Amino acid sequence: MQEKALNSPGFEIDPDLVITLTHGDPIMFEPFWKEEGHNATVTISGWEKMSYYACDPDDICWFLEPDFANEVLRLHRIVNNAATNGSHIIPGAGSTQLIHATLHALASIEARRHPVNVVSAAPYYSMYSDINSLKSALYHWAGDAATFKGGDNFIEIVCSPNNPDGMIRHAVLSNNAGRRVHDMAYYWPHYTPMRGPADHNIMLFTMSKATGHAGTRIGWALVKDTDVAREMVNYITLNTNGVSRDSQVRAARILKVISDGYEFPNSNGAGQFFHIGRHLLADRWRRLRQAMEVLGKFSLPRFSTEFCEFFKEHAQTYPGFAWLRSEDESINDCGDFFKGINVQIRNGRLFGAGPNYVRISLMGSDAYFDGFIKRITSVG
Ligand code: PMP
Repeated sequence: MQEKALNSPGFEIDPDLVITLTHGDPIMFEPFWKEEGHNATVTISGWEKMSYYACDPDDICWFLEPDFANEVLRLHRIVNNAATNGSHIIPGAGSTQLIHATLHALASIEARRHPVNVVSAAPYYSMYSDINSLKSALYHWAGDAATFKGGDNFIEIVCSPNNPDGMIRHAVLSNNAGRRVHDMAYYWPHYTPMRGPADHNIMLFTMSKATGHAGTRIGWALVKDTDVAREMVNYITLNTNGVSRDSQVRAARILKVISDGYEFPNSNGAGQFFHIGRHLLADRWRRLRQAMEVLGKFSLPRFSTEFCEFFKEHAQTYPGFAWLRSEDESINDCGDFFKGINVQIRNGRLFGAGPNYVRISLMGSDAYFDGFIKRITSVG
């Protein structure tokens, strides 16, 4: 209701309406899928996918749907963003489950002392710091990797491009034991220029950010080490006894539609997801930069243009989040400022930064994004 009202043409935005920009809910890609929906529809008959097992029960990952695995490999080959040779593919209920599976596996196999310290350089994705809620005896959150002083008893999560600031990241701690996880949720051409295939021991991807299908709850890990893969599968077996086969079928179809758009292009370029996704994000960033300039209170990150090996041209970075820094001395806590104009954001503190930072999601619906731009412009 509220979103409809915000979206109606000429609508004078009610300052009491709360605009929510807290979550990276990727609704902005909906227009593409409305266009391509007929190709992406899947039908699963009542008798299909009934077994727990998606493949041979003796396979390391017994719940991996072969079609999903094939489409994952195909899309990585087309985009050339990750080395897949010889890696195990492990699906998970989003990369959220895979992060826990990875930490569990690494801490079980590699560590001599428990709990292992889990670190990531600030500003870090706020969910990493929530892992203590699960009270694992094997690992616990230990904060900013850049200031970590706990010797070699750690696992470093490297998020690149980084949530919340969109920057390309490298590990900050030297790590001979291989206890490193690369969260690559945003290493796709609509968000950032492709700099060639990433090649790490453990890489995590998710439908939520790759295609916008967060509700399908499917992510995948590419894992080189067989013992680590086995232990991740063990975690998922204990945790959810597999991963929805229905969801993997849907995910496979969605990935197929994207790959088909590039392998069998129309003459008019319709159906090319990364091109359209980049166009949508570029438009939001342009409007956001304009509005923030009018407001004159915050700065936005600047990204240098880089050659994108996917688009074969120099390309800009358009992260799914904007990481705002206060440039106005009268604003001590940016959270208070946005609260004052009825916009819900995530405070910098949640990401290991100060209250002079906030994260704003750019991936939500047109209604919320348009409403936000209107509100900022009217305040400025
Ligand atoms: N990693 C990063 C960096 C993310 O931003 C997110 C979602 N916000 C996730 C992992 C988790 O994604 P999901 O569980 O939806 O796959």
